[in-house]
Amino acid sequence: MTCDEFKELAAAYALVALDEQERSACAHHLATGAPHRGCREALAAAELVAARLGAALIPQRPSPQVWRSIAARLHDERGAAPLADDVARRRGLYHLCGWLVAAALVGVYLYNAPIDRRTLQTAARPGSQVASSGH
Ligand SMILES: [Zn+2]
Repeated sequence: MTCDEFKELAAAYALVALDEQERSACAHHLATGAPHRGCREALAAAELVAARLGAALIPQRPSPQVWRSIAARLHDERGAAPLADDVARRRGLYHLCGWLVAAALVGVYLYNAPIDRRTLQTAARPGSQVASSGH
């Protein structure tokens, strides 16, 4: 597994949404001593967001009827869908996890760092030579 592959799965790894094979591949990648390209940072950010998401959710049990209808729908879809479709859906779930984490990160960032935001806006002004001469 490469660092890029790990970072793609980091959000799902933090949200414990991987199957056993992928989870152990991620754990093995982290355990290797090779220099990583942002893997630990990506995982730390994803774990922070996962923890905040967990804390933000109201611990309330849905009614048994809700669980039954979810189980019935899963059973129907699983019975009808071919295997390749199932894999594609899981792939979509990883991307959804990634987007959820990214959206939450942006929200946390904007909420926590209004001063940094002003600094960024200052840096992006036309007077800044580095930003405007990049082309
Ligand atoms: Zn890595």
